Amino acid sequence: MLVLDFQLIQCRMGVIGQAAVQRSIKVSLKFATVAKRYRLAALLSEVQSCTQRYIDYLWSNPGWLDAKTLNRVGGGSLSYRHRSNCLKVALETVSSTRKAAKATGVEASCPHVSGAVRLSSLVAKVEPGKGTFDYVLKVSGLIKGEPIVVPFKSHKQLNYWLEKPSAKLLQGCTLGDGWAALWIEVPDGNLKPGRAIAVDIGVNKLLVDSDGNQYGLETKAICARVRRCKSGSKGKLRARRARRDYINQEVKKLPWDAIGVIGIERLKDLKRGRRPARGKTFRKAMAPWTYRVATARIEMLAAENRVRLVVYDPRNTSRECPVCKTVSKDSRRGERFCCVGCGHAADADFVGAQNGLARTLQILGSVWSPRRRS
Ligand SMILES: [Zn+2]
Repeated sequence: MLVLDFQLIQCRMGVIGQAAVQRSIKVSLKFATVAKRYRLAALLSEVQSCTQRYIDYLWSNPGWLDAKTLNRVGGGSLSYRHRSNCLKVALETVSSTRKAAKATGVEASCPHVSGAVRLSSLVAKVEPGKGTFDYVLKVSGLIKGEPIVVPFKSHKQLNYWLEKPSAKLLQGCTLGDGWAALWIEVPDGNLKPGRAIAVDIGVNKLLVDSDGNQYGLETKAICARVRRCKSGSKGKLRARRARRDYINQEVKKLPWDAIGVIGIERLKDLKRGRRPARGKTFRKAMAPWTYRVATARIEMLAAENRVRLVVYDPRNTSRECPVCKTVSKDSRRGERFCCVGCGHAADADFVGAQNGLARTLQILGSVWSPRRRS
């Protein structure tokens, strides 16, 4: 059944053209003078509080990206452009929070702005630099007509993406304390054909794929070693490095040459701990860090191997029976899955990966089906 579906998808992939992916790459703003750093910090805090005021307003009132909504809230010392940017970010934040709440059935509370802020091309521009600096970041500041201009240097990771054919550096940035993240648009390129697999990222095994192969069986022990080391010690650094190397090595073992599509769990849900069934021990043993590293590695190898990456919603993947589709918490017994509906029994992570594959194929179908698009 799944094989048949996938052949259809292969045809569809040929029909629809190339898509682009956006990446954000962090650069250090340490070359800014002290005065500029102060100005950036002042701007950051103004933008944060203005965005928060819009979010507070939009949380209980309807609003749009227009002058009427813009003037509902005082902008402090921010320019019109900055306020428009804040309103745009606030609208997106409120709408995505509501969507997430609806999808998970969890009641959401008004989002709180902290940390970095997004600055659109209206207020932040990246231009070629002079001399030893590769680029300059121009951010319109709190004083009219006096932009904050910060030179910065490129680095290995930024060059890696910019050297890709048809990669485009987008205008705007995410501004943090002492750093900025730039946005790069990279075309997906010519993806190679091949069958699809999905992986489940887990605690006892780092990865289980939808063929039933297991990778990273020592992950738990290696993570435990990191936790045992005294924080700040050299041993801790060593253990962390060993953990990173181990994850990289295991992700590399996936059948990259043979596949054309790989499905992974959407990370957002994991970071916020939306898998209550797995409990505290699980979250402790598999810090979000491990997920991020494993996912980032999969993303990178997928790009290198021209494999299409599909991100699926992980909700209930470990509770749904791949045979009869019964969803029940009782089907999961630790490492084992035993369906309460039909008695189907298998490794729980393997079941997760199989359900992941079904969702991956579903997503591919809905994205690439020309019929459903119209
Ligand atoms: Zn069943």
